[in-house]
Amino acid sequence: MSTPTRIMHLVAGRPWEGRAERTSEVFNPATGEVTGVLDLASADLVGEVVTTAKKAWVTWADTSLAKRSQVLFAFRQLLDAQKESIAALITAEHGKVLADALGEVTRGLEVAEFACGIPHLLKGGFSENASTNVDVYSMRQSLGVVAVISPFNFPAMVPMWFIPVAIACGNAVVLKPSEKDPSAAIAIAELWTEAGLPDGVMNVVNGDKEAVDALLAHPDVKSVSFVGSTPIAQYVYETGTAHGKRVQALGGAKNHMLVLPDADLDLAADAAVNAGFGSAGERCMAISAVVAVEPIADELVQKIVDRMGKLRTGDGTKGCDMGPLVTGAHRDKVSGYVDAGLEEGATLVVDGRNGDFDGGDNGFFLGSTLFDHVTKDMSIYRDEIFGPVLSTVRVTSYDAGLELINANPYGNGVAIFTNDGGAARRFQHQVEVGMVGINVPIPVPVSYYSFGGWKNSLFGDTHAHGMEGVHFFTRGKVVTSRWLDPSHGGINLGFPQNT
Ligand code: NAD
Repeated sequence: MSTPTRIMHLVAGRPWEGRAERTSEVFNPATGEVTGVLDLASADLVGEVVTTAKKAWVTWADTSLAKRSQVLFAFRQLLDAQKESIAALITAEHGKVLADALGEVTRGLEVAEFACGIPHLLKGGFSENASTNVDVYSMRQSLGVVAVISPFNFPAMVPMWFIPVAIACGNAVVLKPSEKDPSAAIAIAELWTEAGLPDGVMNVVNGDKEAVDALLAHPDVKSVSFVGSTPIAQYVYETGTAHGKRVQALGGAKNHMLVLPDADLDLAADAAVNAGFGSAGERCMAISAVVAVEPIADELVQKIVDRMGKLRTGDGTKGCDMGPLVTGAHRDKVSGYVDAGLEEGATLVVDGRNGDFDGGDNGFFLGSTLFDHVTKDMSIYRDEIFGPVLSTVRVTSYDAGLELINANPYGNGVAIFTNDGGAARRFQHQVEVGMVGINVPIPVPVSYYSFGGWKNSLFGDTHAHGMEGVHFFTRGKVVTSRWLDPSHGGINLGFPQNT
């Protein structure tokens, strides 16, 4: 067993070598070994890092768009060149299989590509002669120091939803990654320095509630972009806004896949398995409830079972389909939901609790699990399980399926499988969910659109990346301008009118 590595904060482009009063352990979920010891930031240290970031922001905010986009392009190249090594870091601490880890880095990279176009994205409007000899124009300016607080399940992609856009807009960033798998985010943060970003514009503080609370209360932190579970998202939103900050807090999810009787059931079964068990169900866009409109439920469930039989669960570096869960405690919690589903009367069709896993004996493994005849009062339907547990809910009509989905308190993602264009069009209009897939099971929007759910899946009104991201990380200013000549003199206390 090798000695765990110390994982440090990254302040002004360098590892912070001071003594941490508190630390936490980072595991390799495939072996159960402790591989890292993470420094946890105190509130005082967070304050120091915010001060460093604020100093750097003053210069960065005044840096030309040409120079900023050069840094963005260089960063994009470096990340592309390093994507395999970053993916390996993700697999080592999160557990997801290598191909999936590479996929998340690539989706993060796409946000950097979007942000490379910042000179175009920040163009304002100009109205010549809005009034006689008066021009009016608009601009968007940076906020200052912005905080990003991210979850364990996408250790690279979620920070990347925000950071390239925030930096391109002229802000300085303090990232607080998940304490469960921080190394990928730190490795990506190091690339910014190599890309030519001035020291202090990009910083990482590791930590837990103490660091989060310090960021939420600090007067020089102007905005908070949070992603995590719903109770913490709500807490972050309420606390951050009470401190006068702009907050976007993305929360948990319970995503449905409505399968109409006319759907291609082979495609639907493939999609249910991919979206239910990819990343061991630890995705905010994972499908956790298949809503089968009768009479196809028996046939669909059988097709899903056939596919599940071929899944290999094990170490993410060994070419398996599905890796372990992130921690032993989380594996036990998810496994507890399988017990609960049985007690509540659901039919356990495939039981993943006692599988044969291709990984270390102490790895945090749980096989893919399928329930049928799940009803909306059961905890396996109500709660976000965040593991490889898929529920089948049977309904008698499209309307009953829609009603079930719209009654759910979450509204992150949803999918409909059908060959009926009219039904799909009706669904996209009627469903109360932020991201909709039509024959697409994980409808994560591309970077130039914006990512975000409705209801308990997002607190605040701004989604991530795309133009909503640019708006979130800037504030608008409108200038009304007239170049004086003597004819503009004279006293007039009336409200200005356009002439
Ligand atoms: P989490 O809520 O436990 O942690 C998220 C962040 O909050 C971490 O950085 C963590 O350190 C911090 N945190 C934890 N407890 C805190 C507390 N009491 N006070 C202040 N900060 C605290 O979430 P997680 O387990 O890391 O991630 C999984 C969750 O994230 C799931 O619910 C998933 O649906 C959600 N998620 C949502 C989206 C989305 O786009 N809506 C995307 C990814 C993940």
